[in-house]
Amino acid sequence: MSSNNDCIKFHLNIEDPNIVFSDYFKKYINGKYHSVYQAELIQPACPYCHSNNLKHNGHYTSNVRFITADASHPVTIRLKKQRVLCNDCLKRSMAQSNLVNKYCHISNASKRKVLAALTEDRSMTSIAREHNLSVNTIKSS
Ligand SMILES: [Zn+2]
Repeated sequence: MSSNNDCIKFHLNIEDPNIVFSDYFKKYINGKYHSVYQAELIQPACPYCHSNNLKHNGHYTSNVRFITADASHPVTIRLKKQRVLCNDCLKRSMAQSNLVNKYCHISNASKRKVLAALTEDRSMTSIAREHNLSVNTIKSS
């Protein structure tokens, strides 16, 4: 089987089974064409009680700047994180991913730090401030 999802994950070297890519397109942002990949992040089970009896409750979309070796071709992953309500323990949760933890090929230390910060799920504004980048670069919407 070779779906769009498999091809994109192979290309971006993403192995998280809970990320499902659905589409990709080019978007002109701030003078550059970005490759935008659209994906959904699945919440397979309740993190509190591990129940699969979940009620889906919309999405939280974050635009993750996926830093590639070639900075002139920015890649953004528009990640729609599933929000769920657990029918068993009645707690709400949101899907999480360590999407951005595979970057041994990136030489720039500050980029590594940004990526490390993203894996900690910090606010984009705080990461941008710390690394002197615009919030648009690391944008969360
Ligand atoms: Zn639960």
